[in-house]
Amino acid sequence: MEQYGAKGISKGIAIGKIHILKKEESVIEKRCVKDAEAELVRYREATAKAIAQLKDLAEKALLEMGEEGANIFGGHQLLLADSGYQQMVCELLQEEKVNAEYAVTYAADKIAGQLEALEDAYIRERATDMKDVSHRLVSILSDKTDIQTNAEQKTDTDTREPYVLFARELFPADLLEVNREKILAVVTQSGSPHSHAAILAKTLGIPAITKVSWNLDFEDKTCIVDGINGILIIEPDESAIEKYSRMQKEWNEQAGLLQKWKGQKTFSKAGKALKLMANVGDLADVEMAIKNDAEGIGLFRSEFLFLGKTKAPTEEQQLEVYKTALQKMHGKPVVIRTLDLGDDKQVPYLDMSGEEDRGIRFCLKHKDLFKIQLKALFRAAVIGELSVLYPMITERKELQEIRQIIAEVETELSKEGIEYVLPRQGIMIETQQAAECSSDLAKQVDFISIGTNDLISCMLGTDRWQADTSEIEAENYEEVYSLIRQIVINAHNAGISVSICGELAADTEWTERFWEMGVDFLSMVPGQILPLRKKIKELTDTLLL
Ligand code: PEP
Ligand code: MG
Repeated sequence: MEQYGAKGISKGIAIGKIHILKKEESVIEKRCVKDAEAELVRYREATAKAIAQLKDLAEKALLEMGEEGANIFGGHQLLLADSGYQQMVCELLQEEKVNAEYAVTYAADKIAGQLEALEDAYIRERATDMKDVSHRLVSILSDKTDIQTNAEQKTDTDTREPYVLFARELFPADLLEVNREKILAVVTQSGSPHSHAAILAKTLGIPAITKVSWNLDFEDKTCIVDGINGILIIEPDESAIEKYSRMQKEWNEQAGLLQKWKGQKTFSKAGKALKLMANVGDLADVEMAIKNDAEGIGLFRSEFLFLGKTKAPTEEQQLEVYKTALQKMHGKPVVIRTLDLGDDKQVPYLDMSGEEDRGIRFCLKHKDLFKIQLKALFRAAVIGELSVLYPMITERKELQEIRQIIAEVETELSKEGIEYVLPRQGIMIETQQAAECSSDLAKQVDFISIGTNDLISCMLGTDRWQADTSEIEAENYEEVYSLIRQIVINAHNAGISVSICGELAADTEWTERFWEMGVDFLSMVPGQILPLRKKIKELTDTLLL
């Protein structure tokens, strides 16, 4: 059994055999042609054919997936008809006298390259569309139409048992042109929550994960795709299959029945509000939080804004994201955690060689980067209820250093005459050292958030990516429970609120304990909010009757 971390881009669980989409990735040959006019005619005819295909696909998508699906193919038609693209192709054909296959690919790659360099993530994704469009043209020009290739795929997939689709990069047409009823989940090497593959997978209700490295040997192997937590397991053992079958059953059952829990409030045993918040990594996740009726964002993992990039986002870029999150949440609280790199979250453009470079220690070492983020956060706080959360705190000294940096940030912003608000300041308790001095730390901050993922692996010395925190051994269970309870007591004694934001927050085995302790917030993956609200309501009704 092998387990891989991934980025979940569509929630849900699937277990099944792998089928790898092997798209032809032939190198397009550059040839000189004698008759440029004939090549121009070939290009125009191919374009007309491609538009006809895309019209059919748009109609099919409208029926099967609604407007969102149809718009994608409408967008492809626009790209084909784009005057900039057409002009570039025509110039190549007429002036350089090259073959049409080369011209359409060269022009599309050039435009895709320009799009990829843009800041806006949504526009960047259009680069994929541009490549898809040229791929279609090449298929038509070389008489190996996509339809044929995919028809072969379709025949193949028609006769297969339901399978998990693996692809290097998934184009929208790929999902439409294979037998989608057979697809259990989608796994890609590249992609993002903004990609069409993600949008379509969500629309179709199929789990999807991305940023996974895999190889062709995986074909036909059994795998588990956990789109909720971003996990891929290859050749799972019996206990993993059992665990994920259980999770899958719960997930599917709950999904349909949960709508009625929207808008309802939950309370702890003592009758204090117990708010259910969402953990997010980007603005697409914020949408999911809203859809699932989150009472706020309890943990915005800002490091996701830094991953998969060639350089760190600027102050203005961060400001835009933080402000948008606040606007989308319409006055509900938003807790943004400062950069928490290290472990599985590595960025090539920052020096992360230091062993100890995790969470806050990395930020304190890279003060300029940290200050840029704090400035963006303080500026965003002007428009909404924003709180800042510092990750991986270990000791009081770090808080003193943070305060020092905050003072510098405030001075600089004031000097520049930039409007800002000092947000509420919170810390993550997710190291054993922090847990042990939590009574003292609680007196220094406005709130505490318990990161059970790291805290438990730190306490038990387990590998966070392998260990199953939902099945903490009985003897450890009490140890973990006592520690969490003590942190909650320490926070309340200091007069501050406390939340749980690790995966344990949504673990229904723990709900009664958290409810009894009087935890103020539970923060989790958006899709887990309504199931948990139901659980707490039922618990309150049963135990307080
Ligand atoms: C945690 O450790 O519980 C936590 C919420 O932080 P992350 O999962 O981002 O490390
Ligand atoms: Mg953590």
